[in-house]
Amino acid sequence: MATVTYDHTSRFYPGSDVPAVDRLNLDIGDGEFLVLVGPSGCGKSTSLRMLAGLEDVDEGAVRIGDRDVTSMPPGRRDIAMVFQSYALYPHMTVAQNMAFALEMAKVPKSERGARVREAAQILDLMPYLDRKPKALSGGQRQRVAMGRAIVRQPKVFLMDEPLSNLDAKLRVATRSQIAALQNRLGITTVYVTHDQVEAMTMGDRVAVLKDGVLLQCDTPLALYRRPANAFVAGFIGSPAMNIREFEVAKGHARVGDVDVPLPREELAGLAREGSDSVLLGFRPESVDLVGSEEGFPVVVRLVEELGADAYLYGSIVGADPTDSPDIVARVDPDRTPRIGETVHLRVRPGQEHTFSPK
Ligand code: ATP
Repeated sequence: MATVTYDHTSRFYPGSDVPAVDRLNLDIGDGEFLVLVGPSGCGKSTSLRMLAGLEDVDEGAVRIGDRDVTSMPPGRRDIAMVFQSYALYPHMTVAQNMAFALEMAKVPKSERGARVREAAQILDLMPYLDRKPKALSGGQRQRVAMGRAIVRQPKVFLMDEPLSNLDAKLRVATRSQIAALQNRLGITTVYVTHDQVEAMTMGDRVAVLKDGVLLQCDTPLALYRRPANAFVAGFIGSPAMNIREFEVAKGHARVGDVDVPLPREELAGLAREGSDSVLLGFRPESVDLVGSEEGFPVVVRLVEELGADAYLYGSIVGADPTDSPDIVARVDPDRTPRIGETVHLRVRPGQEHTFSPK
């Protein structure tokens, strides 16, 4: 069983008393595709590198299956890593690049050849086996890097932003290839990216990190529907969720000139904290344009037409425009409002999110 466990795992870089990764607890299932995502510097690569054995663990433990690998050298962990840079050997052919680690591991020559051919078939690399990396496209090089990992038949794949050197279109195509390949091979995979769309489309579960702390780990849909806090809410989804702090009075949040009722549990929580404001969030796709009686008024500043969708950007009437960025709302591309017009928006019942400002 190739489960992966981070057990209160921390890393302090020399000279720093702030942990780059702070008591990470995470159980990754056998065969699971787990994505670590978060903004630059949140500790994704450090977490991955501790699992790979490329970075010291200062507190806690890392386990693969029932083996404690916390202090085990990388070569004995039965993992294969795909880096952002691919790190292919330029003087070797594709076949030699793929076979190299097997040669080091003293795998017999006939078996090496068979494993390389099998991986090359899976990855559509058969026509390129005799080429050097410089004679390959970016996407082909990326596949060779994958091939090198596959031939080793590891217990766990580790991937650190493996698509970041590809152009946008190829990245989209390759991410579905990698997800399909992982599914087919069934090898436990830990994948690092800063791109939330990549995370959401590839992961069985997605772990969101910020400042070295794991904020939430769940399925893509659960993260989208039930974000645990305002950071996850704003990070997952594009365009981002609208989140604003509003005054609370008499059980309602005051949104511009309109009072939005708040759920009772939320009010109880705010009262306990002594807070008289609330962070109210709603996704651009969770609002409807309605008549003036039914919604809160927004002055349209910009309309973005993307073909299948259109988004309006505008400010809530009555809100202070200097400290209140635009509200974003998805609208019908066939009935977009005019710039300067005042429209009324209503958040679909049950699709609002509330967070404590604390
Ligand atoms: P990115 O997406 O930019 O690669 P990341 O989420 O992978 O970021 P890490 O590379 O894990 O983040 O870095 C986490 C924190 O540790 C950051 O504050 C970073 O500055 C710090 N850090 C990373 N490597 C070192 C190092 N070798 N020495 C000291 N500090 C480091």
